[in-house]
Amino acid sequence: MLTTDAIIIKTVNYKETDKILTLFTLKMGIISVIAKGARKSMKRFGGALEPFALFEAVIQTSKKNSLHVLHEAKSKKTYLGLATDLKKLSSAAYILEMVNITINNDIEENRMFELVINTIELINSSEQINIRATVISFNLRLLSMNGFEVSTSLCSICGKQLPDNRAAYFNPQKGGITCTACGGGPILLNNSSTSILKELSKIPVFEASQRKFNSEQLQDIEQCMDLFIKYHLEKEPININFRSSY
Ligand SMILES: [Zn+2]
Repeated sequence: MLTTDAIIIKTVNYKETDKILTLFTLKMGIISVIAKGARKSMKRFGGALEPFALFEAVIQTSKKNSLHVLHEAKSKKTYLGLATDLKKLSSAAYILEMVNITINNDIEENRMFELVINTIELINSSEQINIRATVISFNLRLLSMNGFEVSTSLCSICGKQLPDNRAAYFNPQKGGITCTACGGGPILLNNSSTSILKELSKIPVFEASQRKFNSEQLQDIEQCMDLFIKYHLEKEPININFRSSY
């Protein structure tokens, strides 16, 4: 048996009364578990298996296959603030999808778990929050922790420092900002967008969430990030349309 903090990424009904859950856990990364009887009785898991809720999971791990058994679930924290605001709810759903497509299975990653929970907590509880900047900042960090660093101030090919406050090309395939000598890229970011991107890669997610940025420039950066994610992860989060609720 293994006890770990966990959050649900995906739920699928299974047979008459069971659920198969994709969990992001502190100790095992992304895993699949079967919650037997979860649909029959609320008592069994005490309402801990709510979307976005943080809970303590007791898992019977299987060595034979990749489906483990959820033995017990104890609720630790629910994020009810998300349900009151469509923007918050859909961006939290997007964050969990990003986690699902970025993080490898079966790894212990404290920093990543902390990043995800703290970002969801931040979106849940902040009254005034720049969600666009929060999500971009979260993505930059999540990608970097998983070996997909976005170049924001050095050319992604030759490594040359690009001048401050200048427009720059973004090349999703090459890894970010790319100098003209190395061929530039398909997107030209204006000088303000380039500086915002650079800044968002340096400041913590909390700070990004409290800052005011021009939303058109954030949209330009989102476009770059979307292409970067699509190219490097070879997957796209389905919940990308959450931005239409802005
Ligand atoms: Zn270069």
